[in-house]
Amino acid sequence: VKTDDGQSIECKIKGNFRLKGIRSTNPVAVGDRVRIILNQEGTAFISEIEDRKNYIIRRSSNLSKQSHILAANLDQCMLVVTINYPETSTIFIDRFLASAEAYRVPVKLVFNKVDAYDEDELRYLDALINLYTQIGYPCFKVSAKNGTGVAEIKKALEGKITLFSGVGKSTLINSILPGIETKTGEISSYHNKGMHTTTFSEMFPVEGDGYIIDTPGIKGFGTFDMEEEEIGHYFPEIFKTSADCKYGNCTHRHEPGCAVRKAVEEHLISESRYTSYLNMLEDKEEGKYRAAY
Ligand code: GDP
Ligand code: ZN
Repeated sequence: VKTDDGQSIECKIKGNFRLKGIRSTNPVAVGDRVRIILNQEGTAFISEIEDRKNYIIRRSSNLSKQSHILAANLDQCMLVVTINYPETSTIFIDRFLASAEAYRVPVKLVFNKVDAYDEDELRYLDALINLYTQIGYPCFKVSAKNGTGVAEIKKALEGKITLFSGVGKSTLINSILPGIETKTGEISSYHNKGMHTTTFSEMFPVEGDGYIIDTPGIKGFGTFDMEEEEIGHYFPEIFKTSADCKYGNCTHRHEPGCAVRKAVEEHLISESRYTSYLNMLEDKEEGKYRAAY
């Protein structure tokens, strides 16, 4: 635990923490704000966990109903994606964004590997940036390899707790905080020894009073339990347009008087976003979106 005056204190958890409605394998997570009771040895007990403004969880395994809290009290998440080498699909991006909306974590999109793209790829990149910026997700173009755009990322990290997700994030984190990579590796291999969970998140201070959280081995969020009617709420432009649908519980598939389908036809809502939305609905029907806790 890092105290308000900047000390780091080794802590144990006192008693049983039960979270409302969640069966979690870890009662306390990176980003939690806690109260501690110091003992004579200079270590301490965590006696209280403050209510979280948000948190992201991951089911421990497919079979168990237990969840693992990856991080709490996030100010934002940076999702690192690529147009190529390998391509991050818009379906993956949109699912991530929808989950983040559900978790109430603002997302910024970081398009990495700009050093590697040709003209066509750069054009497609700009089209995607245009799309996501218009919806309300700030976008960055970077190359973790040659440092392009990394200064802008650092600026966006100031004063905030930021979770990094996505492909190629290790190289990017390393270019923000040189030397962190080895440290991350050591810690996770130590913690994995004899443990069932392979996830271990850690928070690192960055310049300008910010922190980044790295969750090694995790490229996305866990599943979020959404009702079918709810999925559209987590696509901001679909949600906004759905106010004009004829039926209040419109799923925007085949209902008459659907304003969302009309907006897609008129190119006011992007085809790829609508496809991602339908894709999530289909999963829901197939039961893929089971309760995450
Ligand atoms: P992670 O395991 O998903 O965190 O990804 P890594 O950071 O290990 O990166 C995956 C691969 O992409 C590695 O081979 C990196 O060298 C490469 N890579 C990462 N960032 C860049 C970049 O900005 N440009 C290029 N050309 N390659 C990159
Ligand atoms: Zn509709």
